[in-house]
Amino acid sequence: MERFASLLEVKTPAQLEAMAREARTLTRRNFGRTMRMFAPLYVSNECVNNCSYCGFSRDNTSIMRVTLTIDQVVKEARHLVDQGFRNILLVAGEHPKFVSNGYLEECIRAIRDFVPTIGIEVGPMEAPEYERMVQAGCEGLVVYQETYDREIYKDMHTAGPKKDFDWRIACPERGYEGGFRRIGIGALFGLSDWRLEALRLAAHLEHLNKHCWKAWFTVAFPRLRPAAGGFQPMTDFPDWALVQTICAFRLVFPEVGIVLSTREPAPLRDALAPLGITSMSAGSHTEPGGYTGAGSDDLHQTVKGRRVDLTERDDKAKAEGQFGIADERSPAEVAAMLSKQGLDAVWKDWDASILSAA
Ligand code: SF4
Repeated sequence: MERFASLLEVKTPAQLEAMAREARTLTRRNFGRTMRMFAPLYVSNECVNNCSYCGFSRDNTSIMRVTLTIDQVVKEARHLVDQGFRNILLVAGEHPKFVSNGYLEECIRAIRDFVPTIGIEVGPMEAPEYERMVQAGCEGLVVYQETYDREIYKDMHTAGPKKDFDWRIACPERGYEGGFRRIGIGALFGLSDWRLEALRLAAHLEHLNKHCWKAWFTVAFPRLRPAAGGFQPMTDFPDWALVQTICAFRLVFPEVGIVLSTREPAPLRDALAPLGITSMSAGSHTEPGGYTGAGSDDLHQTVKGRRVDLTERDDKAKAEGQFGIADERSPAEVAAMLSKQGLDAVWKDWDASILSAA
């Protein structure tokens, strides 16, 4: 942790350049010239929590909401498979009525035969519930703490079960107990001082590496993006700081996966790709049904946990997205960019038969 903290100190451009060179070399040594590709598949934007920075917040009562049927989830997943993806992250707000554990299990079972790598980014669960997800065919869990600053966490999360900081921070360990072999953690940058946030994230990773040593961890540093509700970042996390954070993690944790989403604009993603990033999303939509238009016939609003049907039908209406996307290139365009940089886009790196053969 001392070394990590020293890497986050103020650097000259030459020192930052040297860190970037070392990060690039370490990434090649540990991951080769590869980039794992994945796509988020939003299944529901219903949520009982109020998170000030998120478009799906409970109090955003005017937004269009929908929870996809299982057939619609399959339709969206098949569309992503047609685009090349074999690694899909199912994402949902936290709403036990609309997004029950049984529903998520059904989603996983419905796509597992044609999607070899399935992850979930949904409301935290107990370990036995995670075990059911794993048994259904899911192997990746993503849960970001958002901020490791308890005071700011309290201010940002004003209603719903997410208010409980400790319940959330223990989530990766419950996921590990439930059998997940790939676990993603991260913080939402723009809520508190970036150096402290990165330091606490590194401490969390160090702790998990010791206590959950059979799992493979990834980290992410998503920056706040525009979302319904109009929340503005509270702190600055400029591009150079993002570069320094990626390099610091790579230098201290050479084998950890680092994820970069389409929140970042195309030119920056292109520059960051060879530095330390190991997983990228592409062509993403953050609204349920965003890839195929599925679910648009069931749009409604949700007020105080109750569905409110629309009085008039608007054929152009869409479900609200969680946040705005900055890199709108297609998966093929992103793969071509990677190829130009000498990196291979890896669409499939896992198959259940690997375990059955063992
Ligand atoms: S961040 Fe997650 S829990 Fe919070 S409002 Fe958005 S979807 Fe719900």
